[in-house]
Amino acid sequence: MKIRTKIALQFTLIIALILVAFAAYFYYIDQQNRKDEFQARLRDRALTTANLLIKVAPINKKLLKIIDKETLSSLYAEKVLMFNAEDKIVYASYAADSMVYYKYNAELLKNIRQQKYVETTNDSLEVVGVMYTDQEKGDFVVIASAEDYLGKSQLQKLSKLLIYSVLFGISITTVLGFVFAGQSLKPISSMNKEVGSITAYNLRKQLNEGNRQDEIAQLAMNFNRMLQRLEQSFDLQRSFVSNASHELRTPLAGLKSEIQVALEEERSPEEYRRTLQSALTDTQRLIELTNGLLQLAQSENKERGLSMQPLRLDELIFETQEEIQTQHPDYQILVDFDEIPDNEQSVMVLGSVPLLKTVFSNLIDNACKYSPDKRAEVRIGFDPKSCFVRVIDAGIGIPQEETKRIFEPLYRAKNATTYRGYGIGLSVCRRIVDVHRGTIQVESKLGSGSIFEVILPHL
Ligand code: ADP
Repeated sequence: MKIRTKIALQFTLIIALILVAFAAYFYYIDQQNRKDEFQARLRDRALTTANLLIKVAPINKKLLKIIDKETLSSLYAEKVLMFNAEDKIVYASYAADSMVYYKYNAELLKNIRQQKYVETTNDSLEVVGVMYTDQEKGDFVVIASAEDYLGKSQLQKLSKLLIYSVLFGISITTVLGFVFAGQSLKPISSMNKEVGSITAYNLRKQLNEGNRQDEIAQLAMNFNRMLQRLEQSFDLQRSFVSNASHELRTPLAGLKSEIQVALEEERSPEEYRRTLQSALTDTQRLIELTNGLLQLAQSENKERGLSMQPLRLDELIFETQEEIQTQHPDYQILVDFDEIPDNEQSVMVLGSVPLLKTVFSNLIDNACKYSPDKRAEVRIGFDPKSCFVRVIDAGIGIPQEETKRIFEPLYRAKNATTYRGYGIGLSVCRRIVDVHRGTIQVESKLGSGSIFEVILPHL
Protein backbone atom coordinates (compact mmCIF):
# COMPACT_ATOMS: atom_id res chain seq x y z
CA MET A 1 0.00 0.00 0.00
CA LYS A 2 1.33 3.48 -0.86
CA ILE A 3 2.32 5.72 2.07
CA ARG A 4 -0.14 8.31 0.81
CA THR A 5 -3.07 5.88 1.01
CA LYS A 6 -1.87 4.62 4.37
CA ILE A 7 -1.67 8.10 5.91
CA ALA A 8 -5.06 9.10 4.45
CA LEU A 9 -6.73 5.93 5.74
CA GLN A 10 -5.20 6.22 9.20
CA PHE A 11 -6.26 9.85 9.40
CA THR A 12 -9.81 8.95 8.27
CA LEU A 13 -10.04 6.09 10.74
CA ILE A 14 -9.03 8.29 13.68
CA ILE A 15 -11.46 11.06 12.75
CA ALA A 16 -14.23 8.49 12.09
CA LEU A 17 -13.75 6.98 15.56
CA ILE A 18 -13.88 10.43 17.18
CA LEU A 19 -17.02 11.39 15.22
CA VAL A 20 -18.81 8.12 16.04
CA ALA A 21 -17.92 8.45 19.73
CA PHE A 22 -19.23 12.03 19.84
CA ALA A 23 -22.42 11.08 17.99
CA ALA A 24 -23.06 8.14 20.33
CA TYR A 25 -22.47 10.38 23.34
CA PHE A 26 -24.91 13.07 22.07
CA TYR A 27 -27.52 10.44 21.28
CA TYR A 28 -27.23 8.87 24.72
CA ILE A 29 -27.44 12.21 26.56
CA ASP A 30 -30.45 13.32 24.53
CA GLN A 31 -32.20 10.01 25.12
CA GLN A 32 -31.61 10.24 28.88
CA ASN A 33 -32.84 13.85 29.05
CA ARG A 34 -36.02 13.03 27.16
CA LYS A 35 -36.68 9.99 29.33
CA ASP A 36 -36.16 11.98 32.56
CA GLU A 37 -38.38 14.75 31.33
CA PHE A 38 -41.12 12.34 30.24
CA GLN A 39 -41.06 10.41 33.49
CA ALA A 40 -41.26 13.69 35.46
CA ARG A 41 -44.39 14.53 33.47
CA LEU A 42 -45.85 11.10 34.18
CA ARG A 43 -45.19 11.56 37.90
CA ASP A 44 -46.90 14.96 37.88
CA ARG A 45 -49.81 13.39 36.07
CA ALA A 46 -50.12 10.62 38.67
CA LEU A 47 -49.94 13.04 41.60
CA THR A 48 -52.39 15.50 40.08
CA THR A 49 -54.92 12.71 39.46
CA ALA A 50 -54.52 11.46 43.04
CA ASN A 51 -54.87 15.01 44.41
CA LEU A 52 -58.03 15.62 42.40
CA LEU A 53 -59.60 12.35 43.47
CA ILE A 54 -58.67 12.46 47.12
CA LYS A 55 -57.90 16.01 48.31
CA VAL A 56 -60.36 18.00 46.25
CA ALA A 57 -63.91 17.34 47.43
CA PRO A 58 -65.23 14.18 45.86
CA ILE A 59 -64.88 14.69 42.17
CA ASN A 60 -66.89 12.80 39.70
CA LYS A 61 -64.69 10.03 38.31
CA LYS A 62 -66.43 10.19 34.95
CA LEU A 63 -65.75 13.90 34.78
CA LEU A 64 -62.10 13.29 35.68
CA LYS A 65 -61.88 10.69 32.92
CA ILE A 66 -63.24 13.21 30.46
CA ILE A 67 -60.82 15.84 31.74
CA ASP A 68 -57.96 13.32 31.49
CA LYS A 69 -58.93 12.44 27.95
CA GLU A 70 -59.60 15.89 26.64
CA THR A 71 -56.90 17.84 28.37
CA LEU A 72 -54.46 19.34 25.91
CA SER A 73 -51.44 18.19 27.81
CA SER A 74 -52.53 14.55 27.76
CA LEU A 75 -49.81 12.16 26.59
CA TYR A 76 -49.98 9.56 23.84
CA ALA A 77 -51.68 6.32 25.03
CA GLU A 78 -51.76 7.81 28.51
CA LYS A 79 -53.34 5.73 31.28
CA VAL A 80 -53.63 6.52 34.96
CA LEU A 81 -54.58 3.82 37.46
CA MET A 82 -55.09 4.21 41.14
CA PHE A 83 -55.13 1.32 43.60
CA ASN A 84 -56.18 1.30 47.22
CA ALA A 85 -54.38 -0.51 50.05
CA GLU A 86 -56.07 -3.81 49.01
CA ASP A 87 -54.72 -3.51 45.43
CA LYS A 88 -58.22 -2.76 44.13
CA ILE A 89 -58.56 -0.26 41.29
CA VAL A 90 -60.21 2.86 42.61
CA TYR A 91 -59.73 4.83 39.44
CA ALA A 92 -58.82 4.05 35.86
CA SER A 93 -58.59 6.82 33.28
CA TYR A 94 -59.87 4.48 30.51
CA ALA A 95 -62.98 2.30 30.36
CA ALA A 96 -61.41 -0.96 29.33
CA ASP A 97 -58.85 -0.72 32.03
CA SER A 98 -59.09 -4.22 33.30
CA MET A 99 -56.81 -5.08 30.38
CA VAL A 100 -54.30 -2.44 31.43
CA TYR A 101 -54.49 -3.49 35.03
CA TYR A 102 -53.71 -6.99 33.93
CA LYS A 103 -50.28 -5.78 32.84
CA TYR A 104 -49.39 -4.12 36.12
CA ASN A 105 -48.85 -7.24 38.06
CA ALA A 106 -48.77 -7.57 41.81
CA GLU A 107 -44.99 -7.50 41.77
CA LEU A 108 -44.99 -3.91 40.49
CA LEU A 109 -47.50 -2.79 43.09
CA LYS A 110 -45.38 -4.39 45.81
CA ASN A 111 -42.29 -2.63 44.56
CA ILE A 112 -44.04 0.75 44.51
CA ARG A 113 -45.27 0.26 48.08
CA GLN A 114 -41.75 -0.63 49.20
CA GLN A 115 -39.77 2.00 47.28
CA LYS A 116 -42.44 4.73 47.24
CA TYR A 117 -41.48 5.68 43.71
CA VAL A 118 -40.69 3.42 40.74
CA GLU A 119 -39.77 4.21 37.14
CA THR A 120 -39.91 1.37 34.64
CA THR A 121 -40.89 0.44 31.09
CA ASN A 122 -43.45 -1.96 29.76
CA ASP A 123 -43.09 -2.75 26.06
CA SER A 124 -43.18 0.63 24.41
CA LEU A 125 -44.68 2.31 27.48
CA GLU A 126 -42.90 4.40 30.09
CA VAL A 127 -44.38 3.60 33.52
CA VAL A 128 -44.14 5.65 36.72
CA GLY A 129 -45.60 4.44 39.99
CA VAL A 130 -45.94 6.61 43.14
CA MET A 131 -47.23 6.03 46.64
CA TYR A 132 -49.81 8.55 47.64
CA THR A 133 -50.64 8.80 51.35
CA ASP A 134 -53.69 10.57 52.70
CA GLN A 135 -54.15 11.03 56.51
CA GLU A 136 -57.79 10.07 56.41
CA LYS A 137 -58.18 7.78 53.40
CA GLY A 138 -54.99 5.83 53.72
CA ASP A 139 -52.35 4.71 51.17
CA PHE A 140 -52.88 4.60 47.44
CA VAL A 141 -50.68 3.53 44.58
CA VAL A 142 -50.96 5.63 41.46
CA ILE A 143 -49.53 4.30 38.21
CA ALA A 144 -49.24 6.54 35.20
CA SER A 145 -48.11 5.16 31.86
CA ALA A 146 -47.82 6.55 28.36
CA GLU A 147 -45.80 6.19 25.22
CA ASP A 148 -43.20 8.89 24.55
CA TYR A 149 -44.24 9.03 20.94
CA LEU A 150 -42.93 12.53 20.31
CA GLY A 151 -39.66 11.87 22.09
CA LYS A 152 -39.10 8.67 20.11
CA SER A 153 -39.75 10.29 16.78
CA GLN A 154 -37.45 13.17 17.72
CA LEU A 155 -34.77 10.68 18.78
CA GLN A 156 -35.17 8.93 15.45
CA LYS A 157 -34.70 12.24 13.65
CA LEU A 158 -31.67 12.99 15.77
CA SER A 159 -30.12 9.59 15.06
CA LYS A 160 -30.66 10.07 11.32
CA LEU A 161 -29.10 13.52 11.51
CA LEU A 162 -26.13 12.15 13.45
CA ILE A 163 -25.59 9.24 11.02
CA TYR A 164 -25.68 11.58 8.01
CA SER A 165 -23.33 14.06 9.72
CA VAL A 166 -20.85 11.29 10.63
CA LEU A 167 -20.93 9.88 7.08
CA PHE A 168 -20.49 13.35 5.64
CA GLY A 169 -17.62 14.04 8.08
CA ILE A 170 -15.91 10.76 7.14
CA SER A 171 -16.18 11.41 3.40
CA ILE A 172 -14.81 14.95 3.79
CA THR A 173 -11.97 13.62 5.97
CA THR A 174 -11.08 10.92 3.43
CA VAL A 175 -10.89 13.44 0.60
CA LEU A 176 -8.92 15.96 2.68
CA GLY A 177 -6.68 13.17 4.00
CA PHE A 178 -5.77 12.15 0.46
CA VAL A 179 -5.19 15.75 -0.62
CA PHE A 180 -3.01 16.66 2.40
CA ALA A 181 -1.06 13.38 2.39
CA GLY A 182 -0.43 13.89 -1.34
CA GLN A 183 0.72 17.44 -0.72
CA SER A 184 3.07 16.50 2.15
CA LEU A 185 4.55 13.64 0.14
CA LYS A 186 4.88 15.66 -3.05
CA PRO A 187 8.54 16.57 -2.39
CA ILE A 188 9.28 12.85 -1.95
CA SER A 189 7.67 11.97 -5.29
CA SER A 190 9.61 14.69 -7.08
CA MET A 191 12.79 13.58 -5.26
CA ASN A 192 12.03 10.05 -6.43
CA LYS A 193 11.90 11.25 -10.03
CA GLU A 194 15.15 13.22 -9.65
CA VAL A 195 16.94 10.23 -8.06
CA GLY A 196 15.69 8.00 -10.89
CA SER A 197 17.44 10.21 -13.43
CA ILE A 198 20.87 9.94 -11.72
CA THR A 199 23.29 7.53 -13.36
CA ALA A 200 26.99 6.74 -12.89
CA TYR A 201 27.74 9.42 -15.51
CA ASN A 202 25.86 12.35 -13.99
CA LEU A 203 26.72 12.06 -10.30
CA ARG A 204 27.29 15.80 -10.32
CA LYS A 205 23.53 16.27 -10.47
CA GLN A 206 22.14 17.56 -7.16
CA LEU A 207 18.67 17.12 -5.69
CA ASN A 208 16.56 20.16 -4.93
CA GLU A 209 17.20 20.94 -1.23
CA GLY A 210 13.96 22.92 -0.80
CA ASN A 211 13.85 25.00 2.39
CA ARG A 212 16.89 23.12 3.85
CA GLN A 213 14.93 22.85 7.12
CA ASP A 214 12.41 20.01 7.15
CA GLU A 215 13.14 16.28 7.22
CA ILE A 216 12.69 15.86 3.48
CA ALA A 217 15.07 18.74 2.73
CA GLN A 218 17.58 17.16 5.13
CA LEU A 219 17.21 13.83 3.34
CA ALA A 220 17.91 15.61 0.05
CA MET A 221 20.96 17.33 1.59
CA ASN A 222 22.29 14.01 2.92
CA PHE A 223 21.68 12.40 -0.44
CA ASN A 224 23.59 15.20 -2.16
CA ARG A 225 26.49 14.72 0.25
CA MET A 226 26.44 11.00 -0.52
CA LEU A 227 26.50 11.79 -4.25
CA GLN A 228 29.53 14.01 -3.69
CA ARG A 229 31.32 11.23 -1.82
CA LEU A 230 30.41 8.77 -4.55
CA GLU A 231 31.69 11.14 -7.20
CA GLN A 232 34.95 11.60 -5.27
CA SER A 233 35.43 7.87 -5.00
CA PHE A 234 34.63 7.44 -8.72
CA ASP A 235 37.18 10.16 -9.52
CA LEU A 236 39.69 8.40 -7.29
CA GLN A 237 39.02 5.14 -9.04
CA ARG A 238 39.44 6.79 -12.44
CA SER A 239 42.70 8.51 -11.46
CA PHE A 240 43.88 5.23 -9.96
CA VAL A 241 43.28 3.38 -13.20
CA SER A 242 45.00 6.08 -15.27
CA ASN A 243 47.93 6.32 -12.81
CA ALA A 244 48.27 2.55 -12.69
CA SER A 245 48.31 2.21 -16.47
CA HIS A 246 50.81 5.04 -16.71
CA GLU A 247 53.07 3.45 -14.07
CA LEU A 248 52.88 0.09 -15.80
CA ARG A 249 53.39 1.54 -19.25
CA THR A 250 56.63 3.36 -18.46
CA PRO A 251 58.73 0.27 -17.58
CA LEU A 252 57.01 -1.73 -20.31
CA ALA A 253 57.85 0.93 -22.91
CA GLY A 254 61.43 0.99 -21.57
CA LEU A 255 61.64 -2.78 -21.90
CA LYS A 256 60.30 -2.70 -25.43
CA SER A 257 62.71 -0.03 -26.67
CA GLU A 258 65.69 -1.75 -25.02
CA ILE A 259 64.83 -5.00 -26.79
CA GLN A 260 64.18 -3.20 -30.09
CA VAL A 261 67.53 -1.39 -29.93
CA ALA A 262 69.32 -4.63 -29.06
CA LEU A 263 67.73 -6.39 -32.02
CA GLU A 264 68.50 -3.68 -34.58
CA GLU A 265 71.96 -5.07 -35.31
CA GLU A 266 74.41 -7.70 -34.20
CA ARG A 267 75.77 -6.82 -30.73
CA SER A 268 78.71 -7.89 -28.69
CA PRO A 269 78.07 -10.26 -25.77
CA GLU A 270 78.90 -7.38 -23.41
CA GLU A 271 76.20 -5.19 -25.03
CA TYR A 272 73.65 -8.01 -24.81
CA ARG A 273 74.56 -8.45 -21.16
CA ARG A 274 73.92 -4.73 -20.46
CA THR A 275 70.60 -4.80 -22.33
CA LEU A 276 69.48 -7.86 -20.40
CA GLN A 277 70.59 -6.25 -17.13
CA SER A 278 68.54 -3.15 -17.86
CA ALA A 279 65.54 -5.31 -18.93
CA LEU A 280 65.87 -7.15 -15.62
CA THR A 281 65.74 -3.85 -13.69
CA ASP A 282 62.59 -2.82 -15.55
CA THR A 283 61.05 -6.24 -14.96
CA GLN A 284 61.96 -5.94 -11.28
CA ARG A 285 60.16 -2.56 -11.16
CA LEU A 286 57.14 -4.10 -12.82
CA ILE A 287 57.07 -6.92 -10.28
CA GLU A 288 57.39 -4.48 -7.37
CA LEU A 289 54.63 -2.33 -8.75
CA THR A 290 52.34 -5.28 -9.35
CA ASN A 291 53.08 -6.53 -5.83
CA GLY A 292 52.21 -3.10 -4.46
CA LEU A 293 48.93 -3.08 -6.35
CA LEU A 294 48.19 -6.58 -5.11
CA GLN A 295 48.93 -5.49 -1.54
CA LEU A 296 46.53 -2.57 -1.98
CA ALA A 297 43.81 -4.83 -3.34
CA GLN A 298 44.35 -7.24 -0.46
CA SER A 299 44.18 -4.49 2.15
CA GLU A 300 40.78 -3.50 0.66
CA ASN A 301 39.51 -7.02 1.28
CA LYS A 302 41.17 -7.51 4.64
CA GLU A 303 38.31 -6.29 6.81
CA ARG A 304 36.36 -9.51 6.53
CA GLY A 305 37.97 -12.48 8.22
CA LEU A 306 40.78 -10.37 9.68
CA SER A 307 42.31 -11.93 12.78
CA MET A 308 42.72 -9.20 15.38
CA GLN A 309 44.54 -9.81 18.65
CA PRO A 310 45.52 -7.73 21.65
CA LEU A 311 49.10 -6.58 21.13
CA ARG A 312 51.71 -4.25 22.64
CA LEU A 313 52.26 -1.46 20.15
CA ASP A 314 55.75 -0.59 21.45
CA GLU A 315 56.95 -4.18 20.99
CA LEU A 316 55.53 -4.26 17.47
CA ILE A 317 57.40 -1.05 16.61
CA PHE A 318 60.70 -2.32 18.00
CA GLU A 319 60.32 -5.48 15.91
CA THR A 320 59.54 -3.41 12.81
CA GLN A 321 62.57 -1.23 13.50
CA GLU A 322 64.80 -4.32 13.61
CA GLU A 323 63.38 -5.71 10.38
CA ILE A 324 63.94 -2.44 8.50
CA GLN A 325 67.36 -2.04 9.96
CA THR A 326 68.36 -5.50 8.65
CA GLN A 327 67.21 -4.60 5.13
CA HIS A 328 68.65 -1.06 5.21
CA PRO A 329 71.70 -0.94 7.46
CA ASP A 330 72.27 2.69 6.36
CA TYR A 331 69.00 3.88 7.98
CA GLN A 332 69.12 5.51 11.41
CA ILE A 333 65.91 4.77 13.29
CA LEU A 334 65.38 6.10 16.80
CA VAL A 335 62.39 4.82 18.77
CA ASP A 336 61.37 6.55 21.99
CA PHE A 337 58.41 7.06 24.34
CA ASP A 338 56.77 10.41 25.06
CA GLU A 339 56.34 9.05 28.55
CA ILE A 340 57.36 5.61 29.90
CA PRO A 341 54.16 3.55 30.32
CA ASP A 342 53.44 2.43 33.96
CA ASN A 343 51.52 -0.61 32.83
CA GLU A 344 51.25 -2.50 29.59
CA GLN A 345 47.58 -1.53 29.29
CA SER A 346 48.61 1.97 28.17
CA VAL A 347 50.25 0.60 25.00
CA MET A 348 47.82 -2.21 24.22
CA VAL A 349 45.69 -2.13 21.09
CA LEU A 350 43.59 -4.66 19.23
CA GLY A 351 45.07 -5.33 15.84
CA SER A 352 46.66 -7.52 13.25
CA VAL A 353 50.45 -7.83 13.71
CA PRO A 354 51.41 -8.21 10.01
CA LEU A 355 49.13 -5.37 8.90
CA LEU A 356 50.29 -2.91 11.57
CA LYS A 357 53.90 -3.82 10.79
CA THR A 358 53.19 -2.94 7.14
CA VAL A 359 51.93 0.49 8.26
CA PHE A 360 54.91 1.38 10.44
CA SER A 361 57.52 -0.08 8.09
CA ASN A 362 56.04 2.00 5.23
CA LEU A 363 56.09 5.17 7.33
CA ILE A 364 59.62 4.58 8.68
CA ASP A 365 60.90 3.59 5.25
CA ASN A 366 59.42 6.76 3.71
CA ALA A 367 60.88 8.94 6.48
CA CYS A 368 64.39 7.59 5.85
CA LYS A 369 63.97 7.43 2.07
CA TYR A 370 62.88 11.07 1.73
CA SER A 371 65.55 12.42 4.14
CA PRO A 372 69.10 13.11 2.96
CA ASP A 373 70.43 11.98 6.38
CA LYS A 374 68.29 8.77 6.24
CA ARG A 375 67.13 9.41 9.80
CA ALA A 376 63.71 8.74 11.29
CA GLU A 377 62.46 9.31 14.81
CA VAL A 378 59.53 7.27 16.10
CA ARG A 379 57.73 8.54 19.22
CA ILE A 380 55.18 6.44 21.06
CA GLY A 381 52.57 8.19 23.20
CA PHE A 382 49.24 7.30 24.79
CA ASP A 383 46.23 8.70 26.60
CA PRO A 384 43.34 6.93 28.36
CA LYS A 385 41.56 6.39 25.03
CA SER A 386 44.24 5.68 22.47
CA CYS A 387 47.87 5.11 21.53
CA PHE A 388 49.63 7.35 19.06
CA VAL A 389 52.76 6.83 17.06
CA ARG A 390 54.53 9.73 15.35
CA VAL A 391 57.11 9.10 12.64
CA ILE A 392 59.21 12.24 12.32
CA ASP A 393 61.82 13.16 9.76
CA ALA A 394 63.75 16.23 8.69
CA GLY A 395 63.57 15.39 4.98
CA ILE A 396 62.26 16.96 1.79
CA GLY A 397 58.71 17.54 3.13
CA ILE A 398 55.54 17.61 1.09
CA PRO A 399 54.09 20.61 -0.79
CA GLN A 400 51.13 21.93 1.26
CA GLU A 401 48.57 21.46 -1.56
CA GLU A 402 49.57 17.82 -1.97
CA THR A 403 49.37 16.61 1.64
CA LYS A 404 45.76 15.43 1.15
CA ARG A 405 46.43 13.62 -2.11
CA ILE A 406 49.44 11.55 -1.03
CA PHE A 407 47.05 9.01 0.54
CA GLU A 408 45.49 8.35 -2.87
CA PRO A 409 46.69 5.19 -4.57
CA LEU A 410 49.62 5.80 -6.95
CA TYR A 411 49.81 9.49 -6.15
CA ARG A 412 53.32 10.87 -5.66
CA ALA A 413 54.18 14.45 -4.76
CA LYS A 414 56.04 16.50 -7.37
CA ASN A 415 59.23 16.67 -5.29
CA ALA A 416 59.36 12.86 -4.83
CA THR A 417 59.55 11.68 -8.41
CA THR A 418 63.32 11.27 -8.35
CA TYR A 419 63.08 8.86 -5.40
CA ARG A 420 62.21 5.18 -5.85
CA GLY A 421 58.58 4.32 -5.19
CA TYR A 422 55.11 3.92 -6.72
CA GLY A 423 52.80 5.92 -4.47
CA ILE A 424 51.07 2.85 -3.06
CA GLY A 425 52.44 2.59 0.51
CA LEU A 426 50.41 5.40 2.12
CA SER A 427 47.09 4.32 0.59
CA VAL A 428 47.72 0.83 2.00
CA CYS A 429 48.55 2.42 5.38
CA ARG A 430 45.36 4.45 5.43
CA ARG A 431 43.23 1.45 4.54
CA ILE A 432 44.83 -0.67 7.30
CA VAL A 433 44.46 2.10 9.90
CA ASP A 434 40.79 2.49 8.90
CA VAL A 435 40.24 -1.23 9.44
CA HIS A 436 41.70 -0.75 12.94
CA ARG A 437 39.26 2.14 13.57
CA GLY A 438 42.17 4.53 13.88
CA THR A 439 43.30 7.67 12.05
CA ILE A 440 46.38 8.65 10.10
CA GLN A 441 47.39 12.23 9.40
CA VAL A 442 50.36 14.22 8.24
CA GLU A 443 51.92 17.56 9.06
CA SER A 444 54.65 18.66 6.76
CA LYS A 445 56.68 21.64 5.66
CA LEU A 446 58.34 21.66 2.30
CA GLY A 447 62.10 21.38 2.73
CA SER A 448 61.93 21.01 6.52
CA GLY A 449 60.44 17.56 7.13
CA SER A 450 57.26 15.69 7.92
CA ILE A 451 55.44 14.15 10.87
CA PHE A 452 53.08 11.22 10.17
CA GLU A 453 50.81 10.39 13.12
CA VAL A 454 48.83 7.17 13.57
CA ILE A 455 46.22 7.05 16.35
CA LEU A 456 44.81 3.67 17.36
CA PRO A 457 42.16 3.12 20.02
CA HIS A 458 42.98 0.97 23.08
CA LEU A 459 41.42 -2.47 23.47
P1 ADP B 1 56.05 6.11 -2.44
O1 ADP B 1 56.87 6.53 -1.30
O2 ADP B 1 56.37 4.74 -2.92
O3 ADP B 1 56.01 7.11 -3.53
P2 ADP B 1 53.84 6.34 -0.62
O4 ADP B 1 52.39 6.00 -0.81
O5 ADP B 1 54.54 5.74 0.53
O6 ADP B 1 54.52 6.00 -1.97
O7 ADP B 1 53.92 7.90 -0.50
C1 ADP B 1 53.18 8.72 -1.37
C2 ADP B 1 53.86 10.06 -1.55
O8 ADP B 1 53.84 10.76 -0.33
C3 ADP B 1 55.31 9.97 -1.89
O9 ADP B 1 55.51 9.79 -3.27
C4 ADP B 1 55.84 11.28 -1.40
O10 ADP B 1 55.56 12.30 -2.34
C5 ADP B 1 54.99 11.55 -0.20
N1 ADP B 1 55.67 11.16 1.07
C6 ADP B 1 55.40 10.11 1.84
N2 ADP B 1 56.18 10.08 2.94
C7 ADP B 1 56.98 11.18 2.87
C8 ADP B 1 57.98 11.73 3.72
N3 ADP B 1 58.34 11.16 4.85
N4 ADP B 1 58.58 12.88 3.32
C9 ADP B 1 58.21 13.47 2.16
N5 ADP B 1 57.27 13.01 1.32
C10 ADP B 1 56.65 11.87 1.67
